[in-house]
Amino acid sequence: MRRRECLSGIALATLAGATHASTGRIDVAIVGAGLAGLEAALRLSEQGASVRVFEASERVGGRLRTISSGGLRFETGAVEFADSYARCQARIAALGLKLSTPGAPPSRELTLCIGDELIDAAAWPTAGANTLIEPWRMQLPPTLLGGLMQQHNLLTQSADWQLDQHNHLDVSLHAFLRDHGAPADVLALADVGANYNALHSTSALDALRRDAMRKDAGAAGGVKTLDGGSSQLPDAMARQLGDRVRLGAAVIAIEQRRRGCLIKLADGGRVNARAVIVAVPCSRTDAIGFVDVTGIDSVAALWRARPMTAITQVHLRPLAPFWQDDGLPATMWCDGALERVFAIRNANGDVERLIVWLNGQGAIRASRLGNELGTFVHLELARIRPASKGKVEVLHTVHWAQMPTIGGAYAEVTAGQAQAVKAALSELPGFAKRNPRLAFAGEHMVFDAPGIEAALSSGERAAVNIAGIL
Ligand SMILES: Cc1cc2nc3c(=O)[nH]c(=O)nc-3n(C[C@H](O)[C@H](O)[C@H](O)COP(=O)(O)OP(=O)(O)OC[C@H]3O[C@@H](n4cnc5c(N)ncnc54)[C@H](O)[C@@H]3O)c2cc1C
Repeated sequence: MRRRECLSGIALATLAGATHASTGRIDVAIVGAGLAGLEAALRLSEQGASVRVFEASERVGGRLRTISSGGLRFETGAVEFADSYARCQARIAALGLKLSTPGAPPSRELTLCIGDELIDAAAWPTAGANTLIEPWRMQLPPTLLGGLMQQHNLLTQSADWQLDQHNHLDVSLHAFLRDHGAPADVLALADVGANYNALHSTSALDALRRDAMRKDAGAAGGVKTLDGGSSQLPDAMARQLGDRVRLGAAVIAIEQRRRGCLIKLADGGRVNARAVIVAVPCSRTDAIGFVDVTGIDSVAALWRARPMTAITQVHLRPLAPFWQDDGLPATMWCDGALERVFAIRNANGDVERLIVWLNGQGAIRASRLGNELGTFVHLELARIRPASKGKVEVLHTVHWAQMPTIGGAYAEVTAGQAQAVKAALSELPGFAKRNPRLAFAGEHMVFDAPGIEAALSSGERAAVNIAGIL
């Protein structure tokens, strides 16, 4: 099968050929060419600073990744650009890119597979497999977690997570919901659709913060997608930076010196910079050695207490509309190994792709299957939904937690660690005073905006801080 990264024709490969010897002193070295690093680089270079972006992988964009496979173009990473993403909107407009509103999905399109029984969602309240008690019995399993969060979220806005009165919420999300009366079978079903590694491991306080943040964002409108694919954004940002982006350049150490920093690359290269912005995912920060950085442990909870959500996706092409054979909607939600199967429609409203979407332990188990994962998905789908037998082909598999330079999808906070994260945040200004030449960026550094917007916002903040010392 032919697979090709969709890089919009950008000749990024040529950038990788830049010299790896020391290139003389630059103003700012930026580690990581995800949105956070690219935004920091653009802002600083717009102000006249000389910048270089060092990217460990062979492409820019990090967790934005548009793929082309089997004649289809699709997203494996971030896809939704919320109307509330003000920085993102501004950057997109400045680059001449365009956002569009996706077509509304059909109002009722869900098949449940509970205990291997296939159930049309409309029949769920009276289904034999539905053993939940009232009031949960009437709710569809995919709505259970959202409903519980909405009912019990004490945070009126996301910033409230920092208030001491909420410290007691830093228990597992499972314990929090159980203590609010959710029975074990409700929580087991809620766990399937949770965008966390597990209700047992993630902090309720952080989950409630994210829930409040989503509500803040939701209040500002809907979501859009980027014309031409999400990768258009980082590709266009990288084009503006030109040969200031180096691919295949993993940073392994940063040595702080009296008048600047020495950046050490895995290929043996050395670069002198007046300042450094580290914009790698939280799971990759400790892979960089920090030398002579005063008090790094005081802020390290910002990455050490924040595991990243494991997500594995298997993108399938339906070879025939098997859902017409069994008369059930194509999208599925299962309490078994396949968890969620999303039907993705094209502009004509036809289902052109199915995504098996696994989170947490399910994602990790799937990744362990390696090359057998596609076969497993075929067999399991045919077992639970016989009409699909022989009617799907695998287009692409993605294991976000296994990507060596990324390590997962979203930064979570481990239950019991929210206080440590809070303490690290309050240490940041002092850390910045002691180490004015070093700043951190990345989605995990921002707590008042989600995903893409958090990454851009963190890049902007880091650029402002570093610009102050140039
Ligand atoms: C499946 C999925 C779906 C998502 N959906 C959405 C969505 O719909 N909406 C939304 O807002 N957000 C979404 N997100 C989250 C969003 O994509 C991220 O929050 C955002 O892109 C993170 O940007 P970043 O720059 O902080 O990090 P990244 O994009 O992870 O960039 C970090 C970069 O650093 C590089 N790097 C790592 N180590 C080194 C090193 N030592 N030296 C040099 N380079 C290094 C990495 O290769 C990477 O390119 C999704 C994420 C995933 C995975």
